[in-house]
Amino acid sequence: MEQQEQKKRSSFEKYKLKQQLEALEKKRGYHTELVSLYIPPDRQISDVTNYLKQEYGTASNIKSKSTRKNVMDAIQKILALLKNVPRPPPTGLVIFCGAIPTNGQGTERMELTTIVPPEPIKIYKYHCDSKFFLDPLKEMLIEKDTYGLIVIDRSEADFAILKGNHLEILKKITSGAPGKHHAGGQSQRRFERLIEQAGHEFFKRAGDYANELYLQIPDLKGIIIGGPGPSKNKFAESSYLDYRLKNVIRGVVDLAYTGSSGIDELIDKSQDLLQNIRYSEEKVLVQRFLTQLVKDDSLVAYGEKEVRKALNQGAVDTLLLSEELDILRVIISCPNCKYQEKLTIKKSELPSLEQQTQSRSCPNCASSLLSIEKVTPLIDELGELAEQTGANVEIISPETEEGQQLKQAFGGIAALLRYNLNN
Ligand SMILES: [Zn+2]
Repeated sequence: MEQQEQKKRSSFEKYKLKQQLEALEKKRGYHTELVSLYIPPDRQISDVTNYLKQEYGTASNIKSKSTRKNVMDAIQKILALLKNVPRPPPTGLVIFCGAIPTNGQGTERMELTTIVPPEPIKIYKYHCDSKFFLDPLKEMLIEKDTYGLIVIDRSEADFAILKGNHLEILKKITSGAPGKHHAGGQSQRRFERLIEQAGHEFFKRAGDYANELYLQIPDLKGIIIGGPGPSKNKFAESSYLDYRLKNVIRGVVDLAYTGSSGIDELIDKSQDLLQNIRYSEEKVLVQRFLTQLVKDDSLVAYGEKEVRKALNQGAVDTLLLSEELDILRVIISCPNCKYQEKLTIKKSELPSLEQQTQSRSCPNCASSLLSIEKVTPLIDELGELAEQTGANVEIISPETEEGQQLKQAFGGIAALLRYNLNN
């Protein structure tokens, strides 16, 4: 249960880490003067500071005056930060520090970012380059668990890979088996033999393809096979599938469809098996919302206004936010009289809002100092509001049909409530 709780928070954490890494990725120094420092959880901070002091000494020999200054400044800034860190957090600590140009050479500003990673860091690394070293953190965002899906009946087979929140349908093969009713001129026995032979060849091709495809996947968690009729069971038991794949068959599921509808149906009917696969989790989360909406809509909310109201009352149990929500929350304020406006706009509307705000004067004190004080992606703002009230925050990708529905039919914002707001 505790683990479940932890997992539920992690899609928002991962989203935030992904945003941070994307921002860091774009930053470039003029020379090898951006410092990345990975401190694993078991490393003593005093070891790290001793190491940095040595690096500080080494940096004093750098020939280029500006690079020397920037590297030494970065190390000093990190040392100052570490003074207030008695020991690394349980998953370690990553620090990025360097002089980032804001508008051409000579405009560099020293920036420092710290990240507490979602998983423990295994390496200790001090790295100096013209860009930040992000690979170990990026690695943590890659979903590794993979399932192979096969939908098969006597006339066709479909192969797919489900990895994290991504479903990839790879190939369809058809048997080309002769129809049930044979043309005249052949004996019944000969016809049956032909069918049997075609079935054998089809299973062999399907088996070969599955072996080629799935045996090379390093983190294959299992194979799930489905289909209408008895072919799926025969295929699962046959020796056409490599024994290493047969050993990881997690289920054989009876389906109504073949093709990509069959794959969808297979995922829906394998929810218990796919509990930890994000694709399936996202489907289940949105389905819970849709089911509740139909059953009793007083226990759900959707759209920014309704959901914000529920969040402010602490009534949200689970907040669902579409990953593709390109909406910003903006605070406009007047530093002269503390007048403030909060509004929600599309990302594309920000430049024109900036212009408008510049040409306006404060409606309260008429000063011309009115300006945009803060711009936050709505996902971050609502997600943090939800976390403050103890709600689960789930970032839903557009990969599933349900994720598309959340985005298109509900504005990308929906919530399951703890209680009816109107009571
Ligand atoms: Zn004012």
